[in-house]
Amino acid sequence: MKKVYGLFFVLVVLVLLVVLFYKTHQDRQSIEKKVSVFSGFVNHEKAIIEQQMFAQNNKQWPAKFNVSFFEDFIEIEILIQILSEQSVSGFDLNQVKQNWLDAIDAKYNNRFSVNAFSETIPLVFKVKFSSYKGAHRVVVGSNRFAIDTHHWSVLMDANIAAHEVGHFIGAFDEYSNGATNEKEIYKGSLMGKNTKTGEMFPRHLKLIESKLSEILSTKAVVVLQMENEYEN
Ligand SMILES: [Zn+2]
Repeated sequence: MKKVYGLFFVLVVLVLLVVLFYKTHQDRQSIEKKVSVFSGFVNHEKAIIEQQMFAQNNKQWPAKFNVSFFEDFIEIEILIQILSEQSVSGFDLNQVKQNWLDAIDAKYNNRFSVNAFSETIPLVFKVKFSSYKGAHRVVVGSNRFAIDTHHWSVLMDANIAAHEVGHFIGAFDEYSNGATNEKEIYKGSLMGKNTKTGEMFPRHLKLIESKLSEILSTKAVVVLQMENEYEN
C-alpha cells in the first residue's frame, strides 16, 4: 500500500511540474507577442530624418534626427557638433555640455510614448555631441545675449539648450516673433518664453509622429504624454 501512495505522490509532483513549465512558457510567449509589432523594426538601420521647417514669418531651419527601434523603446538620436569660440575654455565647455545633457534629459525623457497598432512603447531621446557632418552645428561663445538655435553660450540657462533641441526635432516656437507655426501662442511651454519650468508637449513632437507613421506605414501613430511620475 505504501508503494502505491509513493507512486501517486511522484505522479502528482510530475503533473505539477508539467503545468508549471507550460504556464511559464505561455507567459513568455505572451510577452514576446506584446513587443512583436515594434520588434519587427528592430535591427533595421537607423532612419535618418531631415526636414526643412518653415515658420509663419519666413523663418526656416532644418530639423534633423535619427530614429532607431529597440525591443522596448524607440530612440530619437540628435547629433550636435559644438564649435567653441576662443573665449571659451575647455573646462567650462565640458561642464556646460553636461548641464545641457541633464536639462535635455529632464525635459524629454520618461515623458513620452508612442502608440501604434494598439501598442505603446516609450520614446527615448539621446543627444550626442558629434563631429559627424550631418550633425547640427552650434557655435558656443560666452555672450549670454546673442543666443539662437545655432549660437549658444556657456553662460545661458541650460534649459535653453533643451528649447533649441526642440527645434532640431521640428518644434516651432510658441512666443510672438519666434519661429511660430500658426498664430497660436502658448507662452508657458518650453517652446514659449518659459524655458525654465516650461514643458514639452506632444504637439511639439508632430514631426516625429509623422515620420514614425511613414516608417511604420500606418496613419494611426500617436505620441502620448506619459503619466508624469518623475516631475519634481
Ligand atoms: Zn526658439
